[in-house]
Amino acid sequence: MGLWAALNGCRRGLSVMLIEERAIGAGASGGLLGALMPHMPDRWTDKKQLQFDALVSLETDIARLEAETGLSAGYRRTGRLIPLPKPHLVDLARGHERDALSVWNQKGRPFFWHCREPGYRADLINPEVTLAGCVEDTLAARVSPRGLTGLLHAALLRHPHFSLLTGDRVVTLDADKGNVRLESGRQIAFGQAVLAAGAATEALLDGLIGPLPKKIVVPVKGQAALLQASLPPETPVIYLDGLYVVPHEGGEVAIGSTSENVFAEPFSTDHQLERLIASARMLLPLLSDAPVIERWAGLRPKAIGRDPMVGLLPDHPRVAVLTGGFKVSFGLAHALAEALVGALVTGDGKTGLPAQFSPEHHLFEAGMKKSG
Ligand SMILES: Cc1cc2nc3c(=O)[nH]c(=O)nc-3n(C[C@H](O)[C@H](O)[C@H](O)COP(=O)(O)OP(=O)(O)OC[C@H]3O[C@@H](n4cnc5c(N)ncnc54)[C@H](O)[C@@H]3O)c2cc1C
Repeated sequence: MGLWAALNGCRRGLSVMLIEERAIGAGASGGLLGALMPHMPDRWTDKKQLQFDALVSLETDIARLEAETGLSAGYRRTGRLIPLPKPHLVDLARGHERDALSVWNQKGRPFFWHCREPGYRADLINPEVTLAGCVEDTLAARVSPRGLTGLLHAALLRHPHFSLLTGDRVVTLDADKGNVRLESGRQIAFGQAVLAAGAATEALLDGLIGPLPKKIVVPVKGQAALLQASLPPETPVIYLDGLYVVPHEGGEVAIGSTSENVFAEPFSTDHQLERLIASARMLLPLLSDAPVIERWAGLRPKAIGRDPMVGLLPDHPRVAVLTGGFKVSFGLAHALAEALVGALVTGDGKTGLPAQFSPEHHLFEAGMKKSG
């Protein structure tokens, strides 16, 4: 999130310093999965429209960055397969197929939610899970998380007004004076700060607005694995009951993810990941002997109410927040960052994003009384 905000600021001619306590991509964004999954095409809302627009525009945004840097984000609109193991799911899927014909058909570029017959893609998917059929959507895509963070990093380094400070942690922000204090004791002045510390955002917010009755951003642990298998790179993302199988370039296949609200070890993997790997091998027999080349765990930032938290902090107009992307950050971050930085540059603070995304809304949900 922070990388996209920094890039957007640089493109608009701002002087940007990015402060990162460890290294670029050291947080949840440096994981393995990178699935870009659209919401269901039914009951269309402004949030679904925002995500649709973002999933469409990401392709062009990444292509631009790749052309600028000569690097690859490992992006591909592969589409997605969703096996339908039970007959009652077929009617629902057919409804979505009809919905997609209108809401996914915008700007002259239609995307589809096709209902396919039982046993579809038996070359790939175990036919036992497609007994009632399979959905094939053409909007979903995937990106390499590390490819994308590397691309953004490289693009930022090309900007003359960008500076990067790594290896030091922001301890407090003084919104009135406009400075941050770092762990090293160093202080840095800012005109406007964007707080995009992922799952660690809560602690910094606490320092600014004090503890609230409920937490605004909570960490949700996720575990994932990377396998080496000879799947072609155009293989669709496959999703079944919370299990994602995401084929990447170079025969790498990511599998995820657990979703753990309670955990003792944030960054280690355990039997829950082994269970997911076993399920993936059952779902895709081609993975049965594929060696695991990496196991990884990270913390997703989940904002209260589940929606991202994006905008200026009420009563602290020099500090903006950009977090809470939870499980869908990769497909939205560029659009949220653009809306936020636009609001900072125009000075009116209006992001144009759905009202549920505003910090004011999240603070209210967390029990803060309205000021004034
Ligand atoms: C297992 C797993 C699988 C996932 N799969 C997907 C997926 O398929 N698709 C998808 O869209 N999303 C997925 N997500 C979610 C996605 O990874 C996150 O929502 C997203 O990366 C969050 O980005 P962020 O920039 O908000 O946070 P982060 O990427 O965590 O970035 C925050 C950065 O701030 C730094 N930082 C924190 N505190 C401080 C401080 N005080 N001072 C300085 N620096 C600080 C951290 O070091 C970190 O680099 C997954 C997450 C997990 C864990």
